Amino acid sequence: MELKQIEHIGIATPSLEEAIPYYENVLGLKCYNIEVVEDQKVKTAFFMIGEVKLELLEPTCEESTIAKFIEKNGGRGGVHHIAFKTADVAACLADATEKGVRLIDAAPRKGAEGLNIAFLHPKSTMGVLTEICENPKEK
Ligand code: ZN
Repeated sequence: MELKQIEHIGIATPSLEEAIPYYENVLGLKCYNIEVVEDQKVKTAFFMIGEVKLELLEPTCEESTIAKFIEKNGGRGGVHHIAFKTADVAACLADATEKGVRLIDAAPRKGAEGLNIAFLHPKSTMGVLTEICENPKEK
Protein backbone atom coordinates (compact mmCIF):
# COMPACT_ATOMS: atom_id res chain seq x y z
CA MET A 1 0.00 0.00 0.00
CA GLU A 2 1.07 3.57 -0.55
CA LEU A 3 1.13 5.65 2.62
CA LYS A 4 2.13 9.31 2.55
CA GLN A 5 2.59 10.31 6.17
CA ILE A 6 1.27 9.88 9.67
CA GLU A 7 -2.01 11.78 9.54
CA HIS A 8 -2.68 11.64 13.26
CA ILE A 9 -2.08 9.81 16.50
CA GLY A 10 -5.24 8.82 18.36
CA ILE A 11 -5.09 9.20 22.13
CA ALA A 12 -7.87 7.96 24.40
CA THR A 13 -8.79 10.10 27.39
CA PRO A 14 -11.53 9.79 30.00
CA SER A 15 -11.99 13.58 29.98
CA LEU A 16 -11.29 16.12 27.24
CA GLU A 17 -11.93 18.83 29.81
CA GLU A 18 -8.97 17.58 31.85
CA ALA A 19 -6.76 16.60 28.91
CA ILE A 20 -7.01 19.73 26.74
CA PRO A 21 -5.36 22.07 29.30
CA TYR A 22 -2.35 19.70 29.45
CA TYR A 23 -1.86 19.80 25.67
CA GLU A 24 -2.38 23.56 25.58
CA ASN A 25 -0.65 24.78 28.74
CA VAL A 26 2.17 22.26 29.07
CA LEU A 27 2.88 21.23 25.47
CA GLY A 28 1.88 24.61 24.04
CA LEU A 29 -0.40 23.22 21.34
CA LYS A 30 -3.74 24.74 20.34
CA CYS A 31 -6.98 22.79 20.15
CA TYR A 32 -8.49 23.83 16.81
CA ASN A 33 -11.49 21.54 16.52
CA ILE A 34 -13.85 19.62 18.78
CA GLU A 35 -16.22 17.23 17.11
CA VAL A 36 -18.56 14.41 18.13
CA VAL A 37 -18.40 11.34 15.89
CA GLU A 38 -21.70 9.59 16.65
CA ASP A 39 -20.76 6.55 14.63
CA GLN A 40 -17.73 5.86 16.84
CA LYS A 41 -19.34 7.08 20.08
CA VAL A 42 -16.56 9.55 20.73
CA LYS A 43 -15.98 13.25 21.18
CA THR A 44 -12.73 14.26 19.53
CA ALA A 45 -10.39 17.21 20.04
CA PHE A 46 -7.69 18.02 17.49
CA PHE A 47 -4.26 19.60 17.79
CA MET A 48 -1.77 20.19 15.00
CA ILE A 49 1.96 19.69 15.39
CA GLY A 50 3.93 20.16 12.19
CA GLU A 51 2.07 18.09 9.59
CA VAL A 52 0.71 15.65 12.15
CA LYS A 53 -2.42 15.89 14.24
CA LEU A 54 -3.15 14.59 17.68
CA GLU A 55 -6.70 13.28 17.99
CA LEU A 56 -7.93 13.05 21.56
CA LEU A 57 -10.84 10.67 21.98
CA GLU A 58 -13.31 10.82 24.84
CA PRO A 59 -16.04 8.16 24.96
CA THR A 60 -19.61 9.47 24.76
CA CYS A 61 -21.09 6.32 26.32
CA GLU A 62 -20.12 3.12 28.13
CA GLU A 63 -20.44 0.96 24.99
CA SER A 64 -17.83 3.02 23.15
CA THR A 65 -14.72 1.01 22.25
CA ILE A 66 -12.76 3.95 23.71
CA ALA A 67 -14.54 3.46 27.06
CA LYS A 68 -13.47 -0.20 27.02
CA PHE A 69 -9.91 0.74 26.11
CA ILE A 70 -9.70 3.22 29.01
CA GLU A 71 -11.14 0.64 31.39
CA LYS A 72 -8.45 -1.86 30.32
CA ASN A 73 -5.84 0.82 30.97
CA GLY A 74 -6.79 1.27 34.59
CA GLY A 75 -9.18 4.15 33.95
CA ARG A 76 -6.51 6.32 32.37
CA GLY A 77 -6.08 7.18 28.73
CA GLY A 78 -3.18 6.32 26.49
CA VAL A 79 -2.07 6.00 22.89
CA HIS A 80 -4.92 4.23 21.10
CA HIS A 81 -4.09 4.17 17.38
CA ILE A 82 -1.87 5.52 14.62
CA ALA A 83 -3.49 6.84 11.45
CA PHE A 84 -1.68 6.82 8.14
CA LYS A 85 -2.67 9.03 5.24
CA THR A 86 -3.16 7.57 1.80
CA ALA A 87 -4.76 8.73 -1.44
CA ASP A 88 -6.98 5.64 -1.61
CA VAL A 89 -8.30 3.82 1.47
CA ALA A 90 -10.23 1.22 -0.56
CA ALA A 91 -7.08 0.28 -2.47
CA CYS A 92 -5.15 -0.10 0.81
CA LEU A 93 -7.87 -2.35 2.22
CA ALA A 94 -7.78 -4.53 -0.91
CA ASP A 95 -4.00 -4.74 -0.66
CA ALA A 96 -4.11 -5.58 3.07
CA THR A 97 -6.73 -8.28 2.48
CA GLU A 98 -4.61 -9.80 -0.25
CA LYS A 99 -1.72 -9.96 2.24
CA GLY A 100 -3.86 -11.76 4.80
CA VAL A 101 -4.36 -8.79 7.13
CA ARG A 102 -7.52 -8.90 9.21
CA LEU A 103 -9.71 -5.80 8.82
CA ILE A 104 -12.00 -4.09 11.29
CA ASP A 105 -13.65 -2.14 8.47
CA ALA A 106 -14.20 -3.97 5.19
CA ALA A 107 -14.97 -0.65 3.47
CA PRO A 108 -14.08 3.00 4.17
CA ARG A 109 -16.45 4.93 6.43
CA LYS A 110 -16.78 8.56 7.54
CA GLY A 111 -14.49 9.66 10.36
CA ALA A 112 -13.85 12.98 12.08
CA GLU A 113 -12.86 16.01 9.98
CA GLY A 114 -14.62 14.64 6.89
CA LEU A 115 -12.00 11.95 6.30
CA ASN A 116 -12.76 8.52 4.89
CA ILE A 117 -11.26 6.02 7.30
CA ALA A 118 -10.84 2.30 7.94
CA PHE A 119 -9.16 0.32 10.72
CA LEU A 120 -6.92 -2.70 10.39
CA HIS A 121 -7.12 -5.26 13.18
CA PRO A 122 -4.32 -5.05 15.79
CA LYS A 123 -3.99 -8.86 15.69
CA SER A 124 -2.59 -8.40 12.17
CA THR A 125 -0.62 -5.20 12.77
CA MET A 126 1.91 -6.12 15.44
CA GLY A 127 -0.43 -5.01 18.20
CA VAL A 128 -0.82 -1.44 16.97
CA LEU A 129 -4.37 -0.45 16.09
CA THR A 130 -3.88 1.04 12.63
CA GLU A 131 -6.15 3.49 10.85
CA ILE A 132 -5.85 4.34 7.18
CA CYS A 133 -7.42 7.59 6.05
CA GLU A 134 -7.90 9.76 3.01
CA ASN A 135 -9.15 13.31 2.60
CA PRO A 136 -11.86 13.26 -0.09
CA LYS A 137 -11.31 17.01 -0.59
CA GLU A 138 -7.76 16.31 -1.80
CA LYS A 139 -8.94 13.83 -4.45
ZN1 ZN B 1 -8.13 8.34 14.30
